[in-house]
Amino acid sequence: MGKPNMGYQDTLQTIIDFLPGGITMFNAEQQMVVCNQNFRTLLEFPDALFADGLPTLRALALFNAERGEYGEYQEGGAQAIADQVCERARTMQPHVFERQRPNGTTLEIRGEPLPGGGWVSIYTDITDRKRHEEALRRVKDMMSAAINFSPTFIWETDAAGNYTHLQGVEHILGFAEKDLLGQQRSATLCGAKRCVGCEVSQRMTARQPIDRLVIEATDQAGASVWLSTSAQPVFDQAGSYMGYRGVDVDVTEITLARQALEQIALHDTLTGLANRRKFQDRYELERQRQARLGLPLTLVMVDIDHFKRVNDTWGHIVGDVCLKAVAKVLAGNLRTIDLVARFGGEEFLILLSDANLKEGTLVAEKLRRALEGTVIETGLAAQPALRITASFGLTTLLPSEDLSLEAVIERADGAVYAAKHGGRNRVCSAESAVPTV
Ligand code: GH3
Ligand code: MG
Ligand code: MG
Repeated sequence: MGKPNMGYQDTLQTIIDFLPGGITMFNAEQQMVVCNQNFRTLLEFPDALFADGLPTLRALALFNAERGEYGEYQEGGAQAIADQVCERARTMQPHVFERQRPNGTTLEIRGEPLPGGGWVSIYTDITDRKRHEEALRRVKDMMSAAINFSPTFIWETDAAGNYTHLQGVEHILGFAEKDLLGQQRSATLCGAKRCVGCEVSQRMTARQPIDRLVIEATDQAGASVWLSTSAQPVFDQAGSYMGYRGVDVDVTEITLARQALEQIALHDTLTGLANRRKFQDRYELERQRQARLGLPLTLVMVDIDHFKRVNDTWGHIVGDVCLKAVAKVLAGNLRTIDLVARFGGEEFLILLSDANLKEGTLVAEKLRRALEGTVIETGLAAQPALRITASFGLTTLLPSEDLSLEAVIERADGAVYAAKHGGRNRVCSAESAVPTV
């Protein structure tokens, strides 16, 4: 003999006992018809409530009201609350709500009326889900606060370098996030032309991490914004490259302040030319480069002729006007790779990269003539225009020579002395004893 066939009711009971949540079915008279064990466990109903068979809705509601399941007692006590529950059930509306139980768990309760009267309710323990949702919401809120309260935006790109996610970019660069999505990061940050060779793009192409790299970007209004970029390539679990995820911090204020400080620390306030310190730094750099590449380096010292007379005759203010004019002539007649510094009162130093004695002499001669031909407007009624000249002393350094800047300056100074003695307004070199390159 085989097993006896299970009845429909038994089959249904087995199915609902197998379900993860609690389930109940009531008939139109509010009598429970069926429930599973999970329902009794989730709601912690004692077995005594089920001792005489399945309870009515009112019996359950009264029990719940008495144990504080529905919150604070109302006027009329547990009886009144149970009446309300039964009354509400009679309206037969489909419903979904969450109930925080006294034991701290959260249940989601869904009710659905049945066609022949009565209804089915499903109880799901969503405590963990709620906790995760809450934790996620808090992380998101904290991240939003961090981004919105700091000069920061975060971003992700796909493997092709197009933005796939952005947050906070509008308060830094003025672009709406939705307008940048799908666009090339490089093109939107700096304009395609300027960013092609930029270091961030290069690193992204090589899929290297980027650690606080400061770049000059352009905001929507076309103004410069300095961004400190930190980013990392993202790979999926299979190791395939997905794109980049990064953070940009607006460091414009501090960058401008640093540039201003550098300008003050490394430049002469009257003429705007480099000062001794900057000249010294550049000299050392150029010496290293020279040693590496075996190139010549020429230093020129310029001393204005009879400058004391200018001051004595027309006053210091006119003297200052002349110093500024000389600085302008010198700087305006040099290549960008050369450096001119105001070294002392009316003395200037010029470093000519990759220039040998002959080339240096030509440059010095060009500067001398330019100065000689310059008419300086004094702003004085008695003497609206002045002309001045200067004496130039140059010296060329061979890569093999190991000389301090002081020693080189002394050599150039000797050449200036010779120029002064030779009648001023001329170029002399110190290289009579040193072979030219
Ligand atoms: P020489 O042709 O021999 O170089 O004669 P000089 O008068 O130019 O030489 P000297 O070194 O004797 O004089 C330099 C003068 O430069 C002295 C000083 O009054 C002037 N001077 C130095 N610094 C400044 C400055 O910042 N402003 C003005 N107006 N004059 C300055
Ligand atoms: Mg002098
Ligand atoms: Mg002088």
